[in-house]
Amino acid sequence: MEPLFCPNPRCSHHNDRLQEYNGYWRKIGFHDTLVVGPVQRFRCNACGKTYSERTFSIQYYTKRTIDLKEIHRGLTQGECISAIARHLGCTLESVQNRIDRLGRASIAAQARILEGFTAGEHMVADGFESFDRSQYHPCHHNIIVGKSSQFLYGSTHVTLRRKGRMTASQRSMRSHLEQRWKPPRGGLSAAFRELMKGFLRYWDQTVMEGLQLWTDEHPVYPQAIASLPSLRLAMAEGRFEHRTHPSQAPRGLLNPLFSVNYYDRELRKDLAAFHRESTCFTRNVANGLMRIRLYLIYHNYQKRYRMRPLWLPFSHAQAAGVPAFKIREGMKGYYTDRPFLSKLSLNDEEIKIWMKAHHTPLKERKEYIPKYALAS
Ligand SMILES: [Zn+2]
Repeated sequence: MEPLFCPNPRCSHHNDRLQEYNGYWRKIGFHDTLVVGPVQRFRCNACGKTYSERTFSIQYYTKRTIDLKEIHRGLTQGECISAIARHLGCTLESVQNRIDRLGRASIAAQARILEGFTAGEHMVADGFESFDRSQYHPCHHNIIVGKSSQFLYGSTHVTLRRKGRMTASQRSMRSHLEQRWKPPRGGLSAAFRELMKGFLRYWDQTVMEGLQLWTDEHPVYPQAIASLPSLRLAMAEGRFEHRTHPSQAPRGLLNPLFSVNYYDRELRKDLAAFHRESTCFTRNVANGLMRIRLYLIYHNYQKRYRMRPLWLPFSHAQAAGVPAFKIREGMKGYYTDRPFLSKLSLNDEEIKIWMKAHHTPLKERKEYIPKYALAS
C-alpha cells in the first residue's frame, strides 16, 4: 500500500490527489499488531508526522476485525443490534462502534456522490414520527425525498414534547421528567428549516425553475420555509411553490406524498428500532441517527428502484439522475476506507451526526467521540 495523501489535516499534503504526494513520504519499517500482523509505517517528509497503513482503514484502532458488510446487511433487514451481536459473536458496544464507523462512512459517501449534483425533480418532505428513549419523548425524523425518484436528499432529527391524550398519572410523570429535561421550544420548526437549508445546495434555480415542495398540512412547515430568506424570495418570484395535501388521504401511488409515505413505510419495516411495539427502540439519539445514515446508503445506492424491471440494476440515486460513475466512485472503499472529516464539505446536521452531538433526553453526559473521528 502507498499513501495517497498525508493523514495530518494541518499538513500541506493532506488534500493531495492521486500521485501528488509521491516522493513526500518514506517507509520507516513495520510494527506488529495482534489483529492483522505486521503493519507498514510511514513518515511524511513535509510535516514529519508518522502514520501507518491502518491510519487509512475504517478498522483503524480496532482490536478485532468484524464483518462490516454483515452488520450493514443485518441492520437494514430488520435485525436489532443484539441479534447482530449474537450472530457475529461480539458485544453490543463493538457492533455500535462499527455502526458509528459505517455511519461516518455513509455521511462521507453521500457527500462525495452529491458533490456538484443538482436536483431535477420536485420534492416531498415529511416528519417520520417515533420516540427517543421512552414514549415520553416523541421525535420527528424530518426527511426530504425526490417526488419521482424516492431518493433521500437529507434528514434532520428533533425530540418533541409529549402531547395528546394522557392519563392523570402519565401527565404527572411527564412533569416529573420535565424537571430534569425539557425539549427546546420551536424545535420542530428549527429542524425543518435545517432540512430545507441542507437541501438548498442541491437546487440550482437556473436548472430547476418552479420547484415544488409537497408536504402535509402541518402548520409548522410554512413558518419554517418563510424563515429562510432565499426560499421566501424564490416563492415571491414564483420560482418555488409549497403545495400541501391532507395526511389522511389514501396512501396510494397517486397521492402526491407517495414518496415520503413509501420511505416512512420502509423505515418502519426495515429498521428494528421503528417496528411497532418493538423492544429495540432508540435508547440513545446519537447512536440511532448513525443507524439511519446506514439505511440511507442502502436505500439510495444499493436497493433497487421499485418500478424497474427486475433484471435491470437501477437504484433510487440513478432514478434521481445521479451519474453511475459518481455512485461508483463515491461508494468505493465504503466498507474499507476511513473517511476524514477534514476532507469533506458537510452541512450542519451531517456534522452534528458525525460528532454525535444530538442530545438524548435525560442523559447528562456528552457522547464519547474517539480521536480518529475528529478533524485533527
Ligand atoms: Zn504531512
